[in-house]
Amino acid sequence: MKPAAFDYVVADSVGAACTALGRGDAKIIAGGQSLVPMLNFRLLRPAILVDINRIPDLAFIREDDTAITVGALARHHQLETSPVIARHLPVLGEAMRHVAHLAIRNRGTIGGSLSHADPAAELPMMAMLLDAGLRVASALGTRTVAAHDFFKNALSVDLAEDEIVTEIVLPKLSQNTGWGFEEVARRSGDFALAAVAATLTLSDGAIAQARIAMTGVAPTPRRAGAAESMLVGARLDHEVSDDVIEAVRAVAEPETDLHASADYRRHLVGVLARRALGAAWRRAA
Ligand SMILES: Cc1cc2nc3c(=O)[nH]c(=O)nc-3n(C[C@H](O)[C@H](O)[C@H](O)COP(=O)(O)OP(=O)(O)OC[C@H]3O[C@@H](n4cnc5c(N)ncnc54)[C@H](O)[C@@H]3O)c2cc1C
Repeated sequence: MKPAAFDYVVADSVGAACTALGRGDAKIIAGGQSLVPMLNFRLLRPAILVDINRIPDLAFIREDDTAITVGALARHHQLETSPVIARHLPVLGEAMRHVAHLAIRNRGTIGGSLSHADPAAELPMMAMLLDAGLRVASALGTRTVAAHDFFKNALSVDLAEDEIVTEIVLPKLSQNTGWGFEEVARRSGDFALAAVAATLTLSDGAIAQARIAMTGVAPTPRRAGAAESMLVGARLDHEVSDDVIEAVRAVAEPETDLHASADYRRHLVGVLARRALGAAWRRAA
């Protein structure tokens, strides 16, 4: 099918995009990788498409002492190949290699993936894992929202119709931090059946901070807070304990669909968490 008719506005600044969005019944188009199929299937019929691809200086990756800031128009492949990301957030670079295929990663944007919030997407999970903050602009001004508060439900985020995500701020991983990323998809490039990312920060040979995030197993990405707390003070010289893995599984709320049963996904998320934590420990130690 073809999309229903729409007006097309090319925004040349964030302000111009906000003004166009303020006209109502408008949708931003960034990489178009998620939006265009939805338009073609007429799942969405906005009156106006606001193209943000020509806004200058919105595709940056910037580094300061404590954080990496990524502009909303940065493409997935930019993160995948960025030396700054490789140095300070290698777990994010690894995650990007699991997003779709190269052609899609060349077009898909950070702002689009976070705003679309597919329940099996990697970037929302990484924003949760890394305690990211999202900067959002509208005609009224700007605000920052924590990733923890941003993802409301499947394909639903804390974003008003006239707001645009402009950048995401990702605190750098501290020294003595190891990471792991594990995903299972039916075919390379498919959305994850389940994926888990973890970081472990060590102090005096034991875990001082643990972070575990998952995707594909609930309407939104989740952190396994109880499992993280159980790991503080521990060493992972041997297997991760079954109690920790059960605490990870307890956070999952998977559904059965064409690709996998809920039981399989719940089992899988525990297996992947064990592997991701093992890799994080080995890298940290
Ligand atoms: C075959 C295929 C496989 C895929 N596999 C994966 C996968 O494995 N993992 C994965 O994570 N993704 C996957 N994707 C999705 C892909 O990563 C998309 O690029 C991404 O989800 C959306 O980014 P986009 O820039 O294309 O956004 P668009 O499609 O342009 O927009 C998506 C939504 O976000 C809104 N939006 C866009 N930018 C902004 C902004 N700055 N502020 C506010 N709202 C905004 C749009 O209005 C729209 O509602 C796949 C896509 C395809 C077609």
